[in-house]
Amino acid sequence: MRKEIEQLEHQSRELEPDSENREFLERKVTAYSEHFYKNLHTGKTYSPEYQTASEILESDIPEHPENPEDLLDELGAKVDHPGINTASGGHLGYIPGGGLYSSALGDFLAAVTNRYAGVHYTSPGAVNMERRLIRWMADMVGYPDSAGGYLASGGSIANLTAIITAREARGLKAAQFSKSVVYVTEQTHHCIDRALRIAGMGEAIQRQLPVDENFRMKTDQLEQAIQQDLQAGRVPWLIVGSAGTTDTGAVDPLKKQGEIAARHGLWFHVDAAYGGFFMLTGEVDSLFAGIELSDSVVLDPHKGLFLPYGIGAVIVKQEKLMAAAYSYEASYMQDIQDQQTVLSPADTSPELSKHFRGLRMWLPLKLHGVSAFRSALKEKLRLAQHAHQRLTEMPGFETGTEPDLSVVLFRFHPQGADPDACTKKLHQLMLDDGQIYLSSTRIDGKYMLRLAVLSVRTHLSTIDLALELLQKYAREVTKSSA
Ligand SMILES: *Cc1c(COP(=O)(O)O)cnc(C)c1O
Repeated sequence: MRKEIEQLEHQSRELEPDSENREFLERKVTAYSEHFYKNLHTGKTYSPEYQTASEILESDIPEHPENPEDLLDELGAKVDHPGINTASGGHLGYIPGGGLYSSALGDFLAAVTNRYAGVHYTSPGAVNMERRLIRWMADMVGYPDSAGGYLASGGSIANLTAIITAREARGLKAAQFSKSVVYVTEQTHHCIDRALRIAGMGEAIQRQLPVDENFRMKTDQLEQAIQQDLQAGRVPWLIVGSAGTTDTGAVDPLKKQGEIAARHGLWFHVDAAYGGFFMLTGEVDSLFAGIELSDSVVLDPHKGLFLPYGIGAVIVKQEKLMAAAYSYEASYMQDIQDQQTVLSPADTSPELSKHFRGLRMWLPLKLHGVSAFRSALKEKLRLAQHAHQRLTEMPGFETGTEPDLSVVLFRFHPQGADPDACTKKLHQLMLDDGQIYLSSTRIDGKYMLRLAVLSVRTHLSTIDLALELLQKYAREVTKSSA
Protein backbone atom coordinates (compact mmCIF):
# COMPACT_ATOMS: atom_id res chain seq x y z
CA MET A 1 0.00 0.00 0.00
CA ARG A 2 2.65 2.59 1.05
CA LYS A 3 4.66 1.76 -2.02
CA GLU A 4 1.71 2.29 -4.32
CA ILE A 5 0.86 5.58 -2.63
CA GLU A 6 4.43 6.77 -3.06
CA GLN A 7 4.35 5.83 -6.71
CA LEU A 8 1.08 7.72 -7.25
CA GLU A 9 2.55 10.74 -5.48
CA HIS A 10 5.51 10.63 -7.79
CA GLN A 11 3.33 10.42 -10.88
CA SER A 12 1.04 13.24 -9.75
CA ARG A 13 4.01 15.61 -9.34
CA GLU A 14 3.38 16.61 -12.93
CA LEU A 15 0.58 18.76 -11.46
CA GLU A 16 2.98 20.82 -9.33
CA PRO A 17 5.64 22.49 -11.47
CA ASP A 18 8.75 23.48 -9.47
CA SER A 19 10.06 27.02 -9.25
CA GLU A 20 12.13 26.74 -12.42
CA ASN A 21 9.20 25.31 -14.34
CA ARG A 22 6.83 27.97 -13.06
CA GLU A 23 9.19 30.66 -14.23
CA PHE A 24 9.42 29.03 -17.64
CA LEU A 25 5.62 28.91 -17.96
CA GLU A 26 5.20 32.48 -16.72
CA ARG A 27 7.72 33.68 -19.32
CA LYS A 28 5.78 31.92 -22.09
CA VAL A 29 2.46 33.37 -20.90
CA THR A 30 3.93 36.86 -20.58
CA ALA A 31 5.38 36.64 -24.09
CA TYR A 32 1.95 35.60 -25.34
CA SER A 33 0.19 38.50 -23.64
CA GLU A 34 2.81 40.99 -24.89
CA HIS A 35 2.32 39.74 -28.45
CA PHE A 36 -1.45 40.02 -27.97
CA TYR A 37 -1.24 43.63 -26.76
CA LYS A 38 1.10 44.64 -29.60
CA ASN A 39 -1.31 43.26 -32.19
CA LEU A 40 -4.31 45.04 -30.70
CA HIS A 41 -3.45 48.21 -32.60
CA THR A 42 -2.84 46.57 -35.94
CA GLY A 43 -5.13 43.56 -35.92
CA LYS A 44 -8.78 43.37 -36.88
CA THR A 45 -11.56 43.84 -34.37
CA TYR A 46 -13.86 41.39 -36.14
CA SER A 47 -12.71 38.14 -37.80
CA PRO A 48 -15.59 35.82 -38.72
CA GLU A 49 -13.45 32.67 -38.79
CA TYR A 50 -15.99 30.38 -37.23
CA GLN A 51 -14.58 27.31 -39.00
CA THR A 52 -11.16 27.75 -37.38
CA ALA A 53 -12.79 28.20 -33.99
CA SER A 54 -14.78 24.99 -34.40
CA GLU A 55 -11.51 23.01 -34.57
CA ILE A 56 -11.31 23.40 -30.79
CA LEU A 57 -14.21 20.96 -30.64
CA GLU A 58 -11.92 18.30 -32.11
CA SER A 59 -8.87 19.25 -30.06
CA ASP A 60 -7.63 16.21 -28.19
CA ILE A 61 -7.87 16.18 -24.38
CA PRO A 62 -4.60 14.28 -24.04
CA GLU A 63 -3.62 11.52 -21.67
CA HIS A 64 -0.12 12.95 -21.40
CA PRO A 65 1.46 16.43 -21.30
CA GLU A 66 1.56 18.59 -24.40
CA ASN A 67 4.09 21.27 -25.27
CA PRO A 68 3.08 24.65 -23.77
CA GLU A 69 4.14 26.57 -26.88
CA ASP A 70 1.85 24.48 -29.08
CA LEU A 71 -1.01 25.14 -26.67
CA LEU A 72 -0.49 28.89 -26.77
CA ASP A 73 -0.36 28.72 -30.57
CA GLU A 74 -3.63 26.84 -30.57
CA LEU A 75 -5.17 29.38 -28.16
CA GLY A 76 -4.08 32.26 -30.37
CA ALA A 77 -5.30 30.81 -33.67
CA LYS A 78 -8.51 29.14 -32.60
CA VAL A 79 -9.72 31.19 -29.63
CA ASP A 80 -8.17 34.63 -29.47
CA HIS A 81 -8.41 35.36 -33.18
CA PRO A 82 -11.92 34.36 -34.38
CA GLY A 83 -15.00 36.43 -33.53
CA ILE A 84 -14.99 39.90 -31.99
CA ASN A 85 -11.75 41.00 -30.37
CA THR A 86 -13.40 42.48 -27.30
CA ALA A 87 -10.05 43.73 -25.96
CA SER A 88 -9.60 45.95 -29.03
CA GLY A 89 -10.43 49.66 -28.91
CA GLY A 90 -12.18 49.13 -32.25
CA HIS A 91 -14.93 47.25 -30.44
CA LEU A 92 -17.79 49.74 -30.52
CA GLY A 93 -20.61 47.18 -30.51
CA TYR A 94 -22.95 46.15 -27.66
CA ILE A 95 -21.32 47.52 -24.47
CA PRO A 96 -17.52 47.12 -24.59
CA GLY A 97 -15.07 47.51 -21.71
CA GLY A 98 -11.68 46.38 -22.96
CA GLY A 99 -10.18 44.57 -19.98
CA LEU A 100 -7.40 46.07 -17.83
CA TYR A 101 -4.08 44.28 -17.57
CA SER A 102 -3.83 45.14 -13.86
CA SER A 103 -7.13 43.34 -13.33
CA ALA A 104 -5.79 40.25 -15.11
CA LEU A 105 -2.91 40.30 -12.63
CA GLY A 106 -5.44 40.51 -9.80
CA ASP A 107 -7.12 37.38 -11.15
CA PHE A 108 -3.76 35.67 -11.40
CA LEU A 109 -2.94 36.41 -7.76
CA ALA A 110 -6.43 35.45 -6.60
CA ALA A 111 -6.04 32.11 -8.34
CA VAL A 112 -2.52 31.51 -7.01
CA THR A 113 -3.45 32.16 -3.38
CA ASN A 114 -6.91 30.65 -3.91
CA ARG A 115 -8.40 32.47 -0.91
CA TYR A 116 -11.87 31.30 -0.01
CA ALA A 117 -13.80 34.53 -0.49
CA GLY A 118 -17.26 33.11 0.27
CA VAL A 119 -17.02 33.20 4.05
CA HIS A 120 -15.50 35.74 6.48
CA TYR A 121 -14.25 33.02 8.84
CA THR A 122 -12.03 31.45 6.18
CA SER A 123 -10.69 34.59 4.55
CA PRO A 124 -11.58 37.71 6.53
CA GLY A 125 -9.27 39.82 4.37
CA ALA A 126 -10.82 38.75 1.08
CA VAL A 127 -14.37 39.23 2.36
CA ASN A 128 -13.49 42.62 3.86
CA MET A 129 -11.84 43.71 0.61
CA GLU A 130 -15.06 42.94 -1.24
CA ARG A 131 -17.05 44.72 1.46
CA ARG A 132 -14.78 47.75 1.06
CA LEU A 133 -15.43 47.84 -2.70
CA ILE A 134 -19.17 47.49 -2.14
CA ARG A 135 -19.03 50.38 0.36
CA TRP A 136 -17.18 52.49 -2.23
CA MET A 137 -19.92 51.87 -4.78
CA ALA A 138 -22.65 52.42 -2.15
CA ASP A 139 -21.11 55.82 -1.39
CA MET A 140 -21.12 56.64 -5.10
CA VAL A 141 -24.84 55.81 -5.25
CA GLY A 142 -25.53 57.75 -2.02
CA TYR A 143 -26.68 54.82 0.14
CA PRO A 144 -26.55 54.93 3.97
CA ASP A 145 -24.40 52.71 6.24
CA SER A 146 -27.07 50.02 6.20
CA ALA A 147 -26.20 49.11 2.58
CA GLY A 148 -24.49 45.94 1.48
CA GLY A 149 -23.99 44.03 -1.70
CA TYR A 150 -22.44 41.27 -3.68
CA LEU A 151 -19.89 41.00 -6.45
CA ALA A 152 -21.56 38.64 -8.92
CA SER A 153 -20.20 37.32 -12.20
CA GLY A 154 -21.99 39.95 -14.28
CA GLY A 155 -24.94 42.27 -14.60
CA SER A 156 -27.49 39.57 -15.36
CA ILE A 157 -26.76 37.61 -12.19
CA ALA A 158 -26.53 40.84 -10.20
CA ASN A 159 -30.01 41.85 -11.43
CA LEU A 160 -31.35 38.39 -10.59
CA THR A 161 -29.88 38.66 -7.09
CA ALA A 162 -31.65 42.00 -6.59
CA ILE A 163 -34.99 40.78 -7.91
CA ILE A 164 -35.03 37.80 -5.57
CA THR A 165 -34.17 40.14 -2.68
CA ALA A 166 -37.08 42.37 -3.71
CA ARG A 167 -39.46 39.39 -3.92
CA GLU A 168 -38.52 38.22 -0.42
CA ALA A 169 -38.48 41.74 1.05
CA ARG A 170 -42.09 42.23 -0.02
CA GLY A 171 -43.02 38.78 1.25
CA LEU A 172 -44.54 37.75 -2.08
CA LYS A 173 -45.77 34.18 -2.20
CA ALA A 174 -46.56 32.06 -5.25
CA ALA A 175 -50.31 32.68 -4.98
CA GLN A 176 -49.70 36.41 -5.54
CA PHE A 177 -47.20 36.16 -8.41
CA SER A 178 -49.75 36.44 -11.20
CA LYS A 179 -51.18 39.59 -9.58
CA SER A 180 -47.77 41.21 -8.93
CA VAL A 181 -46.91 44.06 -11.25
CA VAL A 182 -43.47 45.13 -12.50
CA TYR A 183 -43.12 48.50 -14.25
CA VAL A 184 -40.57 48.60 -17.08
CA THR A 185 -40.13 50.12 -20.55
CA GLU A 186 -39.39 48.59 -23.95
CA GLN A 187 -35.77 49.59 -23.31
CA THR A 188 -35.41 47.62 -20.06
CA HIS A 189 -32.66 45.02 -20.48
CA HIS A 190 -34.01 41.54 -21.30
CA CYS A 191 -32.13 40.07 -18.33
CA ILE A 192 -34.86 41.55 -16.09
CA ASP A 193 -37.52 39.51 -17.85
CA ARG A 194 -35.29 36.46 -17.61
CA ALA A 195 -34.55 37.11 -13.93
CA LEU A 196 -38.28 37.26 -13.21
CA ARG A 197 -38.76 33.89 -14.86
CA ILE A 198 -35.78 32.36 -13.02
CA ALA A 199 -37.20 33.79 -9.78
CA GLY A 200 -40.36 31.80 -10.49
CA MET A 201 -42.24 34.97 -11.35
CA GLY A 202 -42.72 34.52 -15.08
CA GLU A 203 -46.44 35.06 -14.53
CA ALA A 204 -45.95 38.48 -12.96
CA ILE A 205 -47.49 41.29 -15.01
CA GLN A 206 -44.88 43.38 -16.80
CA ARG A 207 -46.35 46.80 -17.46
CA GLN A 208 -44.39 48.30 -20.32
CA LEU A 209 -44.60 52.07 -20.02
CA PRO A 210 -44.10 54.34 -23.02
CA VAL A 211 -40.84 56.27 -23.48
CA ASP A 212 -40.23 59.83 -24.61
CA GLU A 213 -38.18 60.86 -27.66
CA ASN A 214 -35.00 60.25 -25.60
CA PHE A 215 -36.13 56.70 -24.71
CA ARG A 216 -36.74 57.61 -21.05
CA MET A 217 -39.78 56.28 -19.17
CA LYS A 218 -42.79 58.62 -19.19
CA THR A 219 -43.42 58.80 -15.46
CA ASP A 220 -46.77 60.62 -15.57
CA GLN A 221 -48.21 57.41 -16.96
CA LEU A 222 -46.42 55.39 -14.27
CA GLU A 223 -48.42 57.01 -11.50
CA GLN A 224 -51.61 56.38 -13.44
CA ALA A 225 -50.77 52.73 -14.13
CA ILE A 226 -50.09 52.05 -10.44
CA GLN A 227 -53.44 53.64 -9.45
CA GLN A 228 -55.28 51.48 -11.97
CA ASP A 229 -53.52 48.32 -10.82
CA LEU A 230 -54.35 49.09 -7.19
CA GLN A 231 -58.00 49.68 -8.04
CA ALA A 232 -58.14 46.39 -9.92
CA GLY A 233 -56.82 44.52 -6.86
CA ARG A 234 -53.40 43.79 -8.31
CA VAL A 235 -50.16 44.10 -6.34
CA PRO A 236 -47.83 46.84 -7.65
CA TRP A 237 -44.42 45.53 -6.57
CA LEU A 238 -41.38 46.67 -8.50
CA ILE A 239 -40.27 49.65 -10.61
CA VAL A 240 -37.21 49.01 -12.75
CA GLY A 241 -35.34 52.15 -13.76
CA SER A 242 -32.52 52.03 -16.28
CA ALA A 243 -29.47 54.25 -15.79
CA GLY A 244 -28.09 53.85 -19.22
CA THR A 245 -30.19 51.57 -21.42
CA THR A 246 -28.05 49.19 -23.42
CA ASP A 247 -29.57 50.08 -26.76
CA THR A 248 -29.63 53.86 -26.52
CA GLY A 249 -27.75 54.88 -23.37
CA ALA A 250 -30.86 56.62 -22.01
CA VAL A 251 -31.23 57.35 -18.29
CA ASP A 252 -34.78 57.14 -16.92
CA PRO A 253 -36.12 59.95 -14.69
CA LEU A 254 -34.84 58.23 -11.55
CA LYS A 255 -36.01 60.89 -9.10
CA LYS A 256 -39.59 60.72 -10.36
CA GLN A 257 -39.51 56.92 -10.36
CA GLY A 258 -38.10 56.89 -6.83
CA GLU A 259 -40.72 59.31 -5.51
CA ILE A 260 -43.55 57.32 -7.06
CA ALA A 261 -42.12 54.06 -5.66
CA ALA A 262 -41.87 55.59 -2.17
CA ARG A 263 -45.41 56.98 -2.35
CA HIS A 264 -46.87 53.56 -3.09
CA GLY A 265 -44.42 51.37 -1.18
CA LEU A 266 -42.94 49.69 -4.26
CA TRP A 267 -39.40 48.35 -4.49
CA PHE A 268 -37.32 50.61 -6.74
CA HIS A 269 -34.51 48.86 -8.59
CA VAL A 270 -32.06 50.70 -10.85
CA ASP A 271 -30.21 48.80 -13.54
CA ALA A 272 -27.08 50.91 -13.96
CA ALA A 273 -25.03 48.00 -15.32
CA TYR A 274 -23.89 50.05 -18.29
CA GLY A 275 -24.09 53.64 -17.10
CA GLY A 276 -23.42 53.58 -13.35
CA PHE A 277 -19.72 54.36 -13.31
CA PHE A 278 -20.23 57.55 -15.34
CA MET A 279 -21.18 58.97 -11.92
CA LEU A 280 -17.42 59.12 -11.29
CA THR A 281 -17.07 61.89 -13.89
CA GLY A 282 -19.25 64.33 -11.95
CA GLU A 283 -20.84 65.23 -15.31
CA VAL A 284 -24.05 63.23 -15.06
CA ASP A 285 -25.25 64.39 -11.62
CA SER A 286 -28.52 65.80 -12.90
CA LEU A 287 -29.27 62.68 -14.98
CA PHE A 288 -28.55 60.36 -12.04
CA ALA A 289 -30.27 62.49 -9.38
CA GLY A 290 -32.62 60.26 -7.42
CA ILE A 291 -30.59 57.04 -7.78
CA GLU A 292 -30.15 57.22 -3.98
CA LEU A 293 -33.91 56.74 -3.63
CA SER A 294 -33.60 53.23 -5.02
CA ASP A 295 -33.71 50.07 -2.90
CA SER A 296 -31.17 48.26 -5.06
CA VAL A 297 -28.82 49.07 -7.90
CA VAL A 298 -26.65 47.10 -10.32
CA LEU A 299 -23.32 48.31 -11.71
CA ASP A 300 -21.05 46.36 -14.06
CA PRO A 301 -17.34 46.90 -13.38
CA HIS A 302 -16.65 44.80 -16.49
CA LYS A 303 -18.21 47.64 -18.45
CA GLY A 304 -17.68 51.01 -16.77
CA LEU A 305 -14.46 50.18 -14.92
CA PHE A 306 -12.97 48.44 -17.98
CA LEU A 307 -12.35 45.19 -16.09
CA PRO A 308 -12.25 41.84 -17.92
CA TYR A 309 -15.56 39.96 -18.09
CA GLY A 310 -16.70 38.26 -14.94
CA ILE A 311 -17.82 40.93 -12.47
CA GLY A 312 -21.17 42.65 -11.89
CA ALA A 313 -22.11 44.33 -8.63
CA VAL A 314 -25.46 44.54 -6.88
CA ILE A 315 -25.84 47.00 -4.00
CA VAL A 316 -28.90 46.88 -1.74
CA LYS A 317 -29.82 49.76 0.56
CA GLN A 318 -30.66 47.38 3.44
CA GLU A 319 -28.06 44.64 3.51
CA LYS A 320 -30.15 42.71 6.03
CA LEU A 321 -32.79 42.16 3.34
CA MET A 322 -30.20 40.29 1.27
CA ALA A 323 -29.36 38.15 4.27
CA ALA A 324 -33.08 37.48 4.79
CA ALA A 325 -33.33 36.26 1.19
CA TYR A 326 -30.14 34.19 1.05
CA SER A 327 -28.88 33.08 4.44
CA TYR A 328 -28.97 29.37 5.27
CA GLU A 329 -27.91 26.92 7.88
CA ALA A 330 -26.11 23.64 7.42
CA SER A 331 -24.63 21.35 10.04
CA TYR A 332 -21.29 21.04 8.26
CA MET A 333 -20.97 24.83 8.52
CA GLN A 334 -21.34 24.93 12.30
CA ASP A 335 -17.79 26.13 13.01
CA ILE A 336 -18.33 29.03 10.68
CA GLN A 337 -21.69 30.06 12.08
CA ASP A 338 -20.26 30.16 15.58
CA GLN A 339 -17.57 32.54 14.43
CA GLN A 340 -19.79 34.81 12.39
CA THR A 341 -19.13 38.49 13.00
CA VAL A 342 -19.77 40.05 9.58
CA LEU A 343 -22.06 39.06 6.74
CA SER A 344 -20.25 37.12 4.03
CA PRO A 345 -21.08 36.64 0.33
CA ALA A 346 -22.39 33.21 1.33
CA ASP A 347 -25.05 34.94 3.47
CA THR A 348 -26.12 37.56 0.96
CA SER A 349 -25.93 35.78 -2.41
CA PRO A 350 -26.72 32.41 -4.00
CA GLU A 351 -23.03 31.41 -4.00
CA LEU A 352 -20.97 29.48 -1.46
CA SER A 353 -17.54 28.66 -2.85
CA LYS A 354 -16.79 31.58 -5.09
CA HIS A 355 -14.09 33.26 -7.11
CA PHE A 356 -12.29 36.01 -5.18
CA ARG A 357 -13.58 38.70 -7.56
CA GLY A 358 -12.66 41.58 -5.30
CA LEU A 359 -8.97 41.49 -6.13
CA ARG A 360 -9.52 42.01 -9.89
CA MET A 361 -11.27 45.30 -8.99
CA TRP A 362 -9.29 46.42 -5.95
CA LEU A 363 -5.88 46.09 -7.59
CA PRO A 364 -6.62 48.37 -10.60
CA LEU A 365 -8.33 51.00 -8.40
CA LYS A 366 -5.39 51.08 -5.98
CA LEU A 367 -2.66 50.75 -8.60
CA HIS A 368 -3.93 53.46 -10.96
CA GLY A 369 -6.04 55.66 -8.65
CA VAL A 370 -9.65 56.66 -9.26
CA SER A 371 -8.71 59.86 -11.09
CA ALA A 372 -7.44 57.84 -14.06
CA PHE A 373 -10.86 56.16 -14.28
CA ARG A 374 -12.62 59.52 -14.09
CA SER A 375 -10.54 60.83 -16.98
CA ALA A 376 -11.08 57.72 -19.09
CA LEU A 377 -14.85 57.87 -18.52
CA LYS A 378 -14.95 61.58 -19.36
CA GLU A 379 -12.98 60.81 -22.50
CA LYS A 380 -15.66 58.26 -23.51
CA LEU A 381 -18.46 60.81 -23.00
CA ARG A 382 -16.59 63.35 -25.14
CA LEU A 383 -15.83 60.80 -27.84
CA ALA A 384 -19.53 59.92 -28.09
CA GLN A 385 -20.45 63.62 -28.32
CA HIS A 386 -17.78 64.09 -30.98
CA ALA A 387 -19.03 61.09 -32.97
CA HIS A 388 -22.63 62.28 -32.69
CA GLN A 389 -21.73 65.74 -33.91
CA ARG A 390 -19.66 64.48 -36.84
CA LEU A 391 -22.34 61.97 -37.86
CA THR A 392 -24.95 64.75 -37.84
CA GLU A 393 -22.80 66.66 -40.32
CA MET A 394 -22.07 63.71 -42.63
CA PRO A 395 -24.28 63.74 -45.74
CA GLY A 396 -26.94 61.03 -45.75
CA PHE A 397 -26.47 60.11 -42.08
CA GLU A 398 -29.31 60.52 -39.59
CA THR A 399 -28.81 60.65 -35.84
CA GLY A 400 -31.19 61.02 -32.94
CA THR A 401 -30.91 63.50 -30.08
CA GLU A 402 -27.57 63.96 -28.38
CA PRO A 403 -26.69 60.85 -26.35
CA ASP A 404 -27.28 60.87 -22.57
CA LEU A 405 -24.10 58.80 -22.14
CA SER A 406 -21.82 57.11 -24.68
CA VAL A 407 -24.06 55.25 -27.15
CA VAL A 408 -24.67 56.96 -30.48
CA LEU A 409 -27.52 55.74 -32.70
CA PHE A 410 -27.56 56.49 -36.40
CA ARG A 411 -28.59 55.24 -39.79
CA PHE A 412 -27.68 55.90 -43.41
CA HIS A 413 -30.46 57.40 -45.47
CA PRO A 414 -29.30 58.83 -48.80
CA GLN A 415 -31.94 60.79 -50.65
CA GLY A 416 -34.55 58.69 -52.39
CA ALA A 417 -33.18 55.36 -51.11
CA ASP A 418 -34.55 52.84 -48.60
CA PRO A 419 -32.90 53.66 -45.24
CA ASP A 420 -33.21 50.13 -43.82
CA ALA A 421 -31.59 48.53 -46.88
CA CYS A 422 -28.84 51.16 -47.07
CA THR A 423 -28.03 50.95 -43.35
CA LYS A 424 -27.92 47.17 -43.50
CA LYS A 425 -25.57 47.27 -46.51
CA LEU A 426 -23.34 49.80 -44.80
CA HIS A 427 -23.25 47.61 -41.70
CA GLN A 428 -22.26 44.57 -43.77
CA LEU A 429 -19.42 46.50 -45.44
CA MET A 430 -18.15 47.56 -42.00
CA LEU A 431 -18.28 43.93 -40.81
CA ASP A 432 -16.44 42.73 -43.94
CA ASP A 433 -13.77 45.36 -43.32
CA GLY A 434 -13.39 44.26 -39.70
CA GLN A 435 -11.24 47.11 -38.37
CA ILE A 436 -14.14 48.57 -36.39
CA TYR A 437 -17.00 46.54 -34.97
CA LEU A 438 -20.44 48.14 -34.76
CA SER A 439 -23.65 46.37 -33.73
CA SER A 440 -27.14 47.11 -34.96
CA THR A 441 -30.58 47.29 -33.40
CA ARG A 442 -34.16 48.14 -34.26
CA ILE A 443 -35.74 51.27 -32.83
CA ASP A 444 -39.43 51.80 -33.63
CA GLY A 445 -38.98 49.22 -36.37
CA LYS A 446 -36.07 51.10 -37.95
CA TYR A 447 -32.74 49.39 -38.61
CA MET A 448 -30.17 51.45 -36.69
CA LEU A 449 -26.44 51.21 -36.10
CA ARG A 450 -24.98 51.74 -32.66
CA LEU A 451 -21.60 53.22 -31.87
CA ALA A 452 -20.94 52.42 -28.21
CA VAL A 453 -17.86 54.01 -26.67
CA LEU A 454 -16.74 52.35 -23.45
CA SER A 455 -13.59 50.38 -24.19
CA VAL A 456 -10.59 51.71 -22.30
CA ARG A 457 -8.69 51.45 -25.62
CA THR A 458 -11.12 53.52 -27.70
CA HIS A 459 -9.57 56.93 -28.35
CA LEU A 460 -9.93 59.84 -30.76
CA SER A 461 -8.00 58.00 -33.49
CA THR A 462 -10.42 55.05 -33.20
CA ILE A 463 -13.48 57.27 -33.63
CA ASP A 464 -11.87 59.13 -36.51
CA LEU A 465 -11.11 55.80 -38.20
CA ALA A 466 -14.71 54.64 -37.62
CA LEU A 467 -16.11 57.83 -39.17
CA GLU A 468 -13.69 57.63 -42.09
CA LEU A 469 -14.69 54.05 -42.83
CA LEU A 470 -18.38 54.90 -42.53
CA GLN A 471 -17.99 57.68 -45.09
CA LYS A 472 -15.98 55.46 -47.42
CA TYR A 473 -18.49 52.61 -47.33
CA ALA A 474 -21.45 54.99 -47.46
CA ARG A 475 -20.14 56.15 -50.84
CA GLU A 476 -20.05 52.51 -51.99
CA VAL A 477 -23.61 51.95 -50.82
CA THR A 478 -24.77 55.07 -52.65
CA LYS A 479 -22.99 54.00 -55.84
CA SER A 480 -24.38 50.47 -55.78
CA SER A 481 -27.94 51.62 -55.13
CA ALA A 482 -27.85 54.43 -57.73
C1 LIG B 1 -24.92 44.63 -19.98
C2 LIG B 1 -26.20 44.92 -19.31
C3 LIG B 1 -26.85 43.96 -18.55
C4 LIG B 1 -26.39 42.53 -18.49
O1 LIG B 1 -25.16 42.46 -17.85
P1 LIG B 1 -24.14 41.26 -18.14
O2 LIG B 1 -22.94 41.70 -17.40
O3 LIG B 1 -23.95 41.22 -19.64
O4 LIG B 1 -24.75 40.01 -17.65
C5 LIG B 1 -27.99 44.33 -17.88
N1 LIG B 1 -28.46 45.58 -17.97
C6 LIG B 1 -27.87 46.53 -18.70
C7 LIG B 1 -28.46 47.90 -18.76
C8 LIG B 1 -26.71 46.23 -19.41
O5 LIG B 1 -26.12 47.17 -20.16
